[in-house]
Amino acid sequence: MKILIIGGVAGGASAATRARRLSEDAEIIMFERGPDVSFANCGMPYHIGNEIPDRNKLLVVTPQRLKERFNLDVRVNHEVYQINPKEKTVVIHKPLTRQATMENYDKLIIATGAAPFRLNLEGIDDPRVHTLRNLGDMDRIKKAVDSGIKKAVVIGAGFIGLELVENFVQRGVQVTLVQLQNQILPVFDPEMTAPILETLEKEGVSVILNDTAEKFTPSGTGLTVHLKSGQSLESDLVVLGVGVRPENQLAVKAGLEIGPRGGVRVNSHMQTSDPDIYAVGDVVEVFDPILSEGKQIPLAGIANRQGRLAADHIFGRETTFRGAQGTAIVGFFDQAIAITGASEKALKQKRDYRTVTIHPSNHAGYYPGAEQMTLKLMFDPTDGKILGAQGVGGSGVDKRIDVLSVAIQAGMTVYDLEEMELCYAPQFGSAKDPVNMLGFVAAGLLRGDHPQMDFATWLGLRSNGRPTLVDVRTKSEFDSGHIPDAVHIPIDELRGRLDELPKKQPLAVYCQVGQRGYNATRILMQKGFKVVNLSGGYRSYLQHTKTFGG
Ligand code: FAD
Repeated sequence: MKILIIGGVAGGASAATRARRLSEDAEIIMFERGPDVSFANCGMPYHIGNEIPDRNKLLVVTPQRLKERFNLDVRVNHEVYQINPKEKTVVIHKPLTRQATMENYDKLIIATGAAPFRLNLEGIDDPRVHTLRNLGDMDRIKKAVDSGIKKAVVIGAGFIGLELVENFVQRGVQVTLVQLQNQILPVFDPEMTAPILETLEKEGVSVILNDTAEKFTPSGTGLTVHLKSGQSLESDLVVLGVGVRPENQLAVKAGLEIGPRGGVRVNSHMQTSDPDIYAVGDVVEVFDPILSEGKQIPLAGIANRQGRLAADHIFGRETTFRGAQGTAIVGFFDQAIAITGASEKALKQKRDYRTVTIHPSNHAGYYPGAEQMTLKLMFDPTDGKILGAQGVGGSGVDKRIDVLSVAIQAGMTVYDLEEMELCYAPQFGSAKDPVNMLGFVAAGLLRGDHPQMDFATWLGLRSNGRPTLVDVRTKSEFDSGHIPDAVHIPIDELRGRLDELPKKQPLAVYCQVGQRGYNATRILMQKGFKVVNLSGGYRSYLQHTKTFGG
């Protein structure tokens, strides 16, 4: 068996090493266009920020090591520029010598990844305008930062854009973040990004939404970034982080089937429309089992799993890729924001759903150092099946989103979350873990025990169509900020002041995070009022109005 692999990083290197573990006899050749294989792209922003000072730490494994340990024939600085599916050959180009050679295969794996979008703009080729994909890009950006630049503009507020912002700030660079959409981190629902927006403000980063670059012109030793709005920004360095597109040119030229977003179409064994050609990683379209559609989800874990799986299938193992629900996380200073499954934005276009939002602590409040987080759950309104979750906050966000990711993969419901047994000691969690709490709140809603309305719905109602608003927090909480037009009755006085509330009109109660609102809702329901609790309370209100401006 002769296996050729195109691309030597996450997907390609995983496929190569797995193939060797399955067969000592196979001939395995891996071609990589660049000078490095299997490097840690995910660590690059942190080398720029000096968080990972030793560049060598990013070289997870070298070609020599792959030869010694796995007997792999790794050919760096070799670009494959043509696949001939009929002849089962590829044509390879050595950019340094301009020499072309041909190699035949029994099985071919395309693992060419995705390349950053480069906007077609005047001045884009200025050497001070960068993208970040490989170690060469990283070295150029780091060299500029090391030289003592003062100002940087990051265009695109996705994961990589935000990681760069953090690392530039850590290096004392003044940063402006420009984002085309009306929110940062557009895979998330907007209100979930409010704490990150607050951190950006706290760290002195200027954030410009609803705008993008139109052209770049040199000015002195730096360059001017001209925005569509007419505003211009002086900068020493620009990084574009506006997304990636699959490197599909080889597949297109070979006549392989391609999805509408440019990803190579594969079946669940990672075979393309030619069964002897596999494709893995960022270059492929993945199936999203929640929304039942093809997607591009460029994440390292997916690429690694697919590489392993393609090798398994080549050697006769009937393993299948289950699809990808986009479980991802990004750190930003002391915050983390994570997602799994469908967002509310995506569900809105496709199907019925309900959401609940809670703001629990990562561990028992009485144990020192508890940090608050926001968790949002999306679920099916009929059977309670979990469709998606998002979390933002300090410690413990990753753990909850990972648990919820597994719950989605296992086809669990909100009722399962109520019953979930999770580890607990005061410094790690709560006897009712935040994941259990999501289950209690969501299941209470579906059982009719706890009618709720989310703030997106409430804010969407015309002001004269909104239920009478009752704030059940303490006087000092109310005085330090409340929703306009709210009637104030602290929960501990509620039973004695029911006659102040209209029995025939609908009521909406809220507290700080939803818990006292829940208790107030139970009191009012049992006394014959028509009432909903505003999910997530005043804290959710502030998050919504911060990102939508009310
Ligand atoms: P790549 O890793 O892009 O590798 C493809 C390789 O193929 C490239 O080295 C390329 O040179 C080579 N190649 C392309 N065409 C040819 C050709 N014709 N001939 C020979 N070689 C070719 N993901 C996460 O899950 N978490 C993170 O925190 C995270 N952080 C990231 C930070 C940065 C800055 C970047 C750039 C990416 C990050 N990612 C992260 C994404 C993750 O790195 C990718 O999803 C993953 O590397 C995809 O693996 P791949 O093998 O498909 O493609």
